[in-house]
Amino acid sequence: MRDFTLQNALVVTTDGTAEKSDVVVTDGVVAEIGQGLQVRGEAIDCAGTWIGPGFVDVHTHLREPGQEWKEDIATGSRAAAAGGYTAVVAMPNTDPAIDGGHLARYVADRGAEVGLVEVVPSGCISAGRAGAKLAHLDELWAAGVTLYTDDGDSVDDAGLLRRAMEYLAERDGVVAQHCIDAGLAAGGQMHEGDISSLLGMTGVPREAEETVIARDLSLVRLTGVRYHVQHLSTAGGVAMIAAAKKEGLRVTAEATPHHLFFDHSDVGDTNPVYKMMPPLREPSDVDALREGLRNGAIDVVATDHAPHADHEKDHPWEDSPFGVTGLEWAAAVVNTVVELGPARFFSVMSKNPAVIAGLADQGRLEVGAPANLVVFDPAASANTTRTLSRSGNSPYLGRELQGAVRHTVFRGRFTVRNGELAELVGAMG
Ligand SMILES: [Zn+2]
Repeated sequence: MRDFTLQNALVVTTDGTAEKSDVVVTDGVVAEIGQGLQVRGEAIDCAGTWIGPGFVDVHTHLREPGQEWKEDIATGSRAAAAGGYTAVVAMPNTDPAIDGGHLARYVADRGAEVGLVEVVPSGCISAGRAGAKLAHLDELWAAGVTLYTDDGDSVDDAGLLRRAMEYLAERDGVVAQHCIDAGLAAGGQMHEGDISSLLGMTGVPREAEETVIARDLSLVRLTGVRYHVQHLSTAGGVAMIAAAKKEGLRVTAEATPHHLFFDHSDVGDTNPVYKMMPPLREPSDVDALREGLRNGAIDVVATDHAPHADHEKDHPWEDSPFGVTGLEWAAAVVNTVVELGPARFFSVMSKNPAVIAGLADQGRLEVGAPANLVVFDPAASANTTRTLSRSGNSPYLGRELQGAVRHTVFRGRFTVRNGELAELVGAMG
């Protein structure tokens, strides 16, 4: 493993200070942070960039096992590294679903074998995500799983959810919820509003999200569990989370890049790269999400990276599956549309998601920490000419975005160097 010194960057450390500094990495560990340090190993000029902890995504669909034609752990890891990520939490809605210990171990082991990012399995709340009985929570917990979700579906049965919450409250695990009421969303193709009326499409009302959050918060009060709302999409939902935090509940929430960037008017030409669940909502919702990210109501940006093959997505809107990819451009999207400043930027992209996912080696930039870092240029144009994902269902391809990942360092090795995946240029150091 080569030593190196990153020079002349704005360095954001774990405690949130942002100062012009150098970062010295020796033996895969951050050895020194400061100004004008003596160079160890290779000197790399990083003037104009921000250096912070590598990004952490608490919501990635890697599609392995079972749907490798969409994505697999290797291709998803490449896209993640290109996006500046050093850890991703893999959603359990695979085939089979991750509802037992051996399946979680498979995902973690395959991620380690690929070796580009830390791949962290999440586990199902219900067996087979069928919503009828609990998944093998004991086994999943023993396999190291701390975040549980039936993502893709809400857990409808409040009794089942309560039992999962009680189990995880005892262990300080996290219940993450895809808050969309199945009945209110039935047949829904996009946000319920004037554009869905114009297009003659069945809409998904904001209440599909907000009624689930309201019910879940009353169960959080009952059980004391750590609760995380996935892909928050409505202004009302943001207000509910802000109020729950004020009340002292252990609640966190994520916003996706696409809900921060687009609104329901983008559905106008019915290109399926704008079809996802929850749907793109109204400009007032987008404003509330951006403001929530700034003021702390929303804790993290999570991609909900959801690859689908061309033969699935190249269909008329109604026949196309929900979901878009986003790992490679999440940071650029946030940098383009939300004024956060470097400290808050790394809080929502790296530090807070690492806390939610319980990752001790991530979300930290300090002396003695493993070197999981990203060198991000906030003024450069993002490369939107290609994707490293197996799937191309991205609304960002070909779009002008500001902010580019220059280097990604995972456990002291460059996974991305000058914007290119290190393994592709044969320079894995
Ligand atoms: Zn979801």
